Amino acid sequence: MQYARYLDLELSGWESLPGEVHDNYRLTGPEGVRYLLKVSTPDPDALAFQTALLDHLGRQALPFAVPRLLDARTVTVAGNPRQLCRYTYLSGRLLATVKPRTPALFRSWGASCGHLCRALGDFDHPYAHRQYRWDPQRAFREPLNTSHLLQNEKILAEYFVSRFRHHDLSGLRHSVNYNDAHEHNLLVGPDHTISGVIDFDDAVYTATVCELAIAAAYAGMGAKDPLGVWRELVAGFHSVFPLREEEVAVLYDLIAARLLLTLTTAAQNRHDHPDNSYLTISERGAKGLLRQLHALHPDLARAHFRAAAGLTPHPAQLAFTHWANTALPEPLMQFTGQNLIPLDLGVGSTVLGGNASFTSPLAFTTRVRRHLTDQAAGMAVGGYGETRPVYTTDDFQSEGNQGPRWRTVHLGLDFWTPAADTPVVCPVDGTVQAYGQDPTAGGYGNTIILRHEPTPDLTFYTLYGHLSACSLAGLRAGSQVEAGQLLATVGGQEENGGWPPHLHFQVLLDLLGKDLDYPGVAYPEEAAVWLGICPDPRSLIPYPLPEEAPRPILPSALLERRRRVLGRSLSVSYGQQPLQILRGAGQYLYDHTGRRYLDTVNNVAHVGHEHPRVVAAARRQLSVLNTNSRYLHPAIVTLAERLVATLPAPLSVVHFVNSGSEANELALRMAEAYTGSRDMLALEMGYHGNTTRTIEVSQYKFDRKGGRGRPACTALLAPTLAEPDLPDHRASFIHESILSCAGQLPLPPGYLDRVYRHVRQQGGICIADEVQTGLGRVGTHYWAFEQQGVVPDVVTLGKPFGNGHPLGAVVCTPAVAEAFANGMEYFNTFGGNPVSCAVGLAVLEAVRDEGLQQHALAIGDYLKALFGELQSVYPIIADVRGSGLFLGVELLGKDASPAAPPAAYVMHRMRELGFLMSTDGPYENVLKVKPPLCFSRDNAEMLADYLGRTLGEDHAQI
Ligand code: PMP
Repeated sequence: MQYARYLDLELSGWESLPGEVHDNYRLTGPEGVRYLLKVSTPDPDALAFQTALLDHLGRQALPFAVPRLLDARTVTVAGNPRQLCRYTYLSGRLLATVKPRTPALFRSWGASCGHLCRALGDFDHPYAHRQYRWDPQRAFREPLNTSHLLQNEKILAEYFVSRFRHHDLSGLRHSVNYNDAHEHNLLVGPDHTISGVIDFDDAVYTATVCELAIAAAYAGMGAKDPLGVWRELVAGFHSVFPLREEEVAVLYDLIAARLLLTLTTAAQNRHDHPDNSYLTISERGAKGLLRQLHALHPDLARAHFRAAAGLTPHPAQLAFTHWANTALPEPLMQFTGQNLIPLDLGVGSTVLGGNASFTSPLAFTTRVRRHLTDQAAGMAVGGYGETRPVYTTDDFQSEGNQGPRWRTVHLGLDFWTPAADTPVVCPVDGTVQAYGQDPTAGGYGNTIILRHEPTPDLTFYTLYGHLSACSLAGLRAGSQVEAGQLLATVGGQEENGGWPPHLHFQVLLDLLGKDLDYPGVAYPEEAAVWLGICPDPRSLIPYPLPEEAPRPILPSALLERRRRVLGRSLSVSYGQQPLQILRGAGQYLYDHTGRRYLDTVNNVAHVGHEHPRVVAAARRQLSVLNTNSRYLHPAIVTLAERLVATLPAPLSVVHFVNSGSEANELALRMAEAYTGSRDMLALEMGYHGNTTRTIEVSQYKFDRKGGRGRPACTALLAPTLAEPDLPDHRASFIHESILSCAGQLPLPPGYLDRVYRHVRQQGGICIADEVQTGLGRVGTHYWAFEQQGVVPDVVTLGKPFGNGHPLGAVVCTPAVAEAFANGMEYFNTFGGNPVSCAVGLAVLEAVRDEGLQQHALAIGDYLKALFGELQSVYPIIADVRGSGLFLGVELLGKDASPAAPPAAYVMHRMRELGFLMSTDGPYENVLKVKPPLCFSRDNAEMLADYLGRTLGEDHAQI
């Protein structure tokens, strides 16, 4: 390096670093100490400023490191004067390389800017008052050089520049700003918060809030939902350096200004230095974000910023509340003399019922109408702020920063009427702002928006959706409507967007540039913002309406209550952030925010969560008879016959029980009755249940936390050895056909045949535990033991048999049944009751009629192939195994050790992204995939896609 001889330092290494203006080098000096060398054209004023600035910051208590200037000298190199500045070198990762950028990281990013503002509040220097080209304020004062922009970029630039004129920034707080908090200047520590800030060359005296705007301009680049990023950033900044209302008001335009500086400078650089890619590094991101910003109404962005800074989302909110408290609106509808009831359409609502009750408009209408009739109601009211699952089909899905998301929080108040044509009255004087037919399916149908200006400083709007077509006849934009005047009538399903007859009434403090496309439902993470813009319409109804249905309790509060009354050994998934699941349908589960998760792990919901056929069978039978099996009933016999028909001879005698544990417990008693011995062979890491006896044959329990070790009556066989050591004494054998808790582990070919022969020679019997693997899950066969070409003496089943309802069974040979029937009655109060049997029958029929075994094979093979592709990209995937929709993905480190922390990371991260997975195996390093069998090809693709992204993130690296 040509500058080495000018430094009083023995260098053992150096490396050139990228930079916009200067030559930067990372130097390694004596004892490996590293330094940063910055080489520039001498500028004594700039140097004096930076020296003072870094000295000042060095004296502040900051939660991150800043460099120290160690020495500065001016030398002549090849006839040119050069300024060499040597700084301490800050270690840490550049924020630009961190994956993923979590909400917490954005918050820390914002907070760091807040700390800089706080630390520099009392600092000043003459050089800071120079005109600087990277100061966002510049775009407000002087024309931008747009000459090198493309035509479409120029149009974008003009939109923003025309807005800048309306701001006067001189009244805002000003200070010396760091002015450059982007991802190539911030370092991130092991705890994923900002640990260092480098490069103070851009520091300048400007509006203080520019510090946040610059960070926002960079943080928003590449985000699916920049608002989500900015809420965190603003909240982080505000928590350290409280923002003022007028600062929040200019943020949108300051972000745009900085992005325009990036864009115009990059265009100029591309023109002047076509070979230096660093000079255009942010151009694409800036352009993309400007487009997103352009599509975003400034008032909506402001509402998000305000909410994040602890202000009411809309500035008119207080004025509205104040006016509404004393206003005397006319009743919107005929309330007096009506039986008004609440209508709960929340995620867990049993009034709403299963998803089938809203997947078709007719079903939904029938459901609501029946409820009104049953309750003898004249009208049902509710839904403001309610979290509803009815908008969570694929049609409503979009991608947010944390995976797929759906609008679920309802912003209006609904009035459900038994029939269409119910009159709607204008509550407050107003003028017609907009009207027409919202053409989207599931939209508002015929809609009117009125504008109200009740006081000189308050304007708001009211929206009336799902009206009859004739309500719109004769309307004119701008025409007056008086309070008390008949405004419209409620529309029928054919004209109201496909909904049961009802009025959707919403108050809007801001039109946000929209009219009939105004959102009536918000994303849960944006609910607070939208509910601020759309206040509670009850304030305009001069009549006591029924209380809203209770909202779901927060998971943290529920966890607290649970801890008080439930045993500590009952674990909760996802530790400190447990999920409150309130609804299931098919392969999906819904939490209390209405978020839909793809369930890749729940094999209990074998044919799909809340499968309509299963639910109907249970409901029907439950209302007629449920009793024990001591009376004759056709259901128990039919179910036993159907079950036996799926199994090879001589498995033909059935006992019904209520769980997998109970099934195995009974099977173990049968073995003892048959052989006269309690001795059992079991597989290493097998799991067979939670009873005392089943734990004795479950190494997964007895050799792990809290276990008492292997009992003398149990001998273990290694499931991975093709020829396991077989003890030669009389013992029976229990096994899973593909081990689940052991990490989705298939047995070597011929394994069961070899062990079965040996056991039978010794006089023992063989029990196949098909609790996890039975009923078509493995795809190739109905039962997983069939893959090994054996016929057990006893087969146990549970979990999937009842699709969530407690139902298990033991099927054995007549010889085993005879040995067990020793005179002692086997009485099981609930086993084989008519309701359970109706459920079991519905499950067997669903598997058969929906071709779920074949489906499991096709989708399972496809998923395995997709995982195989991931394996070729991510070496952490050591094995992809299993069969049908019973798969395991084993993660190993570089030294082939179990990669448990990455597996746990993937599981938690996938949950954040909307996928429920679990880990298992003796080392918790195997991702289990065993979804409801209705899992689709699209589901498989999406799972593999997100799993791939997650495996590319920092914590999944080995
Ligand atoms: N056998 C196996 C293979 C299992 O995986 C389980 C449950 N995970 C059981 C038996 C016990 O079933 P249950 O929890 O229904 O008692």
